[in-house]
Parts: sequence; structure tokens; C-alpha cells
Amino acid sequence: MNHENNIFKLAIQKSGRLTEDSLRLLGESGIKIRFGDRALRAVVEGLPMEILFLRDDDIPEYVENGVAHAGIVGLNTLEEKGNPVDILCPLDFGHCRLSLAIPKEQTYDSPEFFRNKKIATSYPNILEKFFKEKNIPVKIEKIRGSVEISVSLGLADGIFDIVSTGSTLLMNGLKEAECVMKSYAVLVGCKNLNKEIKKMATDLVFRIQSVMNAQKNRYIMLNCPTEKVKTISKILPGVKSPTVLPLAMEGWCSLHSVIPEKDFWPLLSRLKEEGAQGILVIPIEKMVI
Ligand code: ATP
Ligand code: ZN
Repeated sequence: MNHENNIFKLAIQKSGRLTEDSLRLLGESGIKIRFGDRALRAVVEGLPMEILFLRDDDIPEYVENGVAHAGIVGLNTLEEKGNPVDILCPLDFGHCRLSLAIPKEQTYDSPEFFRNKKIATSYPNILEKFFKEKNIPVKIEKIRGSVEISVSLGLADGIFDIVSTGSTLLMNGLKEAECVMKSYAVLVGCKNLNKEIKKMATDLVFRIQSVMNAQKNRYIMLNCPTEKVKTISKILPGVKSPTVLPLAMEGWCSLHSVIPEKDFWPLLSRLKEEGAQGILVIPIEKMVI
């Protein structure tokens, strides 16, 4: 058997906006990358896995043809390239939106604004689909690089590009008119994987999901009068149900549970109303459901 074939190859962006978060997520998932002298490939300690560092635009194609078994890429890039790959798991970083923008002094009502107008973009496929579905003819000018300056240069009437804060748009005299697509990073996998490699892909997804679950949740501990345990358990249902331990002081219990981080502040006043005291909220490192 060719040994090389049983090494799981995972592609991530070589250097760019997805790189740091991809490396962080892999680190938290127990994937320790041993950076060697080869800039494009690195081995992983203790796992039959190799990391390939690629341009993000190339990742969908590498994953489609199996040169990489899986990869981390933005949904925007994946949609634009259109390569048939499986989305294994949405990730919690790389959030941005693809929007249409127009000169800031113009008024915008609807996509009809763009009828027969020229739009500069490096995402021609996503844009074409958007206007085709609406039956609005537009002229799409495919350009690479700084799309934002094309309006002031007189190359286009509007642009279609990634917007994160809108400040780059403002600097170029533009404003966001319409969000066409919300994007985030995804883990994608090749559609034709052998059994062994598929098992490794499933294991990777499982690790990543455990890390993301943990980060979204908090371990909460509190003390409450024993007669309030039922009511408070309803407020904090936990993974299965809360853990309840008696305190040395008669008539009191300690209740432990897991809650989504975003629910803590909204729930706090209700917990206090029900008599909860000594509330502790603790981060979770890994959470396997
Ligand atoms: P290159 O191909 O030369 O590496 P790029 O413009 O494609 O350049 P980045 O700017 O690093 O690469 O963006 C990579 C991906 O990161 C984008 O395709 C998108 O999915 C995501 N992204 C873009 N802008 C942001 C942002 N402001 N915040 C978070 N994620 C973003
Ligand atoms: Zn790119």
C-alpha cells in the first residue's frame, strides 16, 4: 500500500484573512503543526496528517480533485468558483458580506437601480446569478484587486465586493446599497474519499465541533434554596439536566449547568429573582455532546 495515500491532507490559506483563525482552530483541536523549512507543506505531530498552505482561491479546485482531502475556505470563494465539494462544517470566523455599492450621493431603492449599468467586481459568477434571477440586465466588469477605486476612475457605475466595516467604501466615496451574500469560513471535503481518509475527515469535524461548542457555551454554578431547584433547572436546562449537589448548610443546594454564552446576561435577573446566589461562570475548553 502506498503510505503517502493514507496521510490526510488539509489545505488552509497560506497568508491572508483566514490564516490566523484557521491555525488557531486547528491548534485548539489538538492538531499541532510542525513548521519545517518547506513553506507549502507541514506535518502534524502524532497524526497522519499534513497541512498544505495555498492561495485561498485555489483551495476549492485542490479539494475537488483530491490533491487536498479537505480545506478551509470562505463560502464566497467556494460559491464563486463553483467546484463540487462537500461542506463538512461551517466555521465561526471569516464573517463578511458581499455587497453592491454605489456613489454615496445617489439614492438607492432596489436592484432595479443597476439596470443596464456597469458593475466592477472580482465575483462575476455570484453577481451574474443574482441579477439573472431578478431578470435585470447589467454589465459585469471583471477586475482583480482594488475594486473600490473603479467608480472614481470612471470604469463602472457601481461595485460588488466584500464589505466588512464599510470604511473602505466611504474612503472611496461609496456606500453599501444591497447585501447579496453573507459569508463565513467553511471546512470543505473532497467528494471521493477512501474509507480511511473519510474516517479522518469525520474525526476532524468532530474535533472542530467540540471546540466550537465549548466556545459558545459556559459552565455555570450557583447556590440556591432547595425548594427553588426545580424552577431554576427550568431556566438552566443544561446538556441533559443540571447537576444538583447538597450544600453543608441545610435547605441549600449547589446547581451546575451549561448555558449558551449569549444567554447569560438575559437570564441573570431571572436567576437572582429565584434566589440564586454565588453565581460563577466558567469557560469550557472542549465540549463533546
Ligand atoms: P489572496 O487571494 O491574494 O490571498 P484575498 O483577497 O482572496 O487575497 P483575503 O483578503 O485574505 O484574501 O481574504 C480571504 C477570505 O477571508 C475572503 O475570501 C473572505 O472569505 C474572508 N474575508 C474577507 N474579508 C474579511 C474580513 N474583513 N473579515 C473577515 N473575513 C474576511
Ligand atoms: Zn484570494
